[in-house]
Amino acid sequence: MDVKSLLTERAQVEYADWSHQCDAVTVLGSEPPRVFVRSDLSPLRERFTLAHEWAHIELAWHVGSVGCHVDSVSHEEEYSIDGLGSAQEREANEFASRVLAPDRWLSRLTSEVSVFERATMKTLLDTLSEAEMSAHAGIIALSRHLLPGHALFVDESFAISQGTSWPGSPPISRTSVERYLENAVTVEEFTHQGRNIFWGLMIPQSILPASDRDIESDSRTPHEVLIDCCTRTFGEDSANAKAMSINGVVGGVTRDLDRGWHAEAIAAVVHDRVKARADLASILEDPDFIIYLYKKANAIVVKRASA
Ligand SMILES: [Zn+2]
Repeated sequence: MDVKSLLTERAQVEYADWSHQCDAVTVLGSEPPRVFVRSDLSPLRERFTLAHEWAHIELAWHVGSVGCHVDSVSHEEEYSIDGLGSAQEREANEFASRVLAPDRWLSRLTSEVSVFERATMKTLLDTLSEAEMSAHAGIIALSRHLLPGHALFVDESFAISQGTSWPGSPPISRTSVERYLENAVTVEEFTHQGRNIFWGLMIPQSILPASDRDIESDSRTPHEVLIDCCTRTFGEDSANAKAMSINGVVGGVTRDLDRGWHAEAIAAVVHDRVKARADLASILEDPDFIIYLYKKANAIVVKRASA
């Protein structure tokens, strides 16, 4: 994809030097729009920045003069920073990442992967470099296709997959990254394009079952466990209604599953969504709720495998 030509067809592009932390400035509203690009960017960062600026021009609702520091995005609206400026930045990053690594190409690479291991991740990042993507642009693209719970860090930037807790506002310090990764189930570190990448699988400790045996030895169906939890937490009169609400949350999470999420990931996302619901969150304190989460998640995985 010749991003530079695409941009110069639509805008007046100039390279300039400046001292402040900014990769580019796009002035929308003039015809043609003007784009100032920092002249000392590395080739890959420049490529991503040009695609990002092109996004501001093509996305018709973007307005004003935007100073861009190409950093991080989340695909989870509820964790995003408020404000028009950051929404525009997130959209432009997402657009740029889709231009450089189209979903159709990327999903072919990831569709057969159900568990992401170190070697798989390295191969994917290497393939993304072949598409001339910087490490940061690569993790943004990859995060769209990863199972919930994945967090990837490159220097002060990061990208997280859907359903993953937000690590903080970028630029993020090394200390904050380390503190965040303390809650990870596994952490991998590797060098890619000369930069250190941390990759964590984030499943909150609070939702790990005490042991698999607790789940297997419990002979109740998921629904029976849920009703028991609801009865204890909300009282007998509301138990059925609350159980239905929780079923609704599970349905909402699993409806958009188009790939093989593992049971832990499903449990983690349902846990996150329930936590966000003021009317349901108190059920998380019931010790059996974890058993319900895993029984239900396992049932979904089994059902999907037989479909
Ligand atoms: Zn921007």
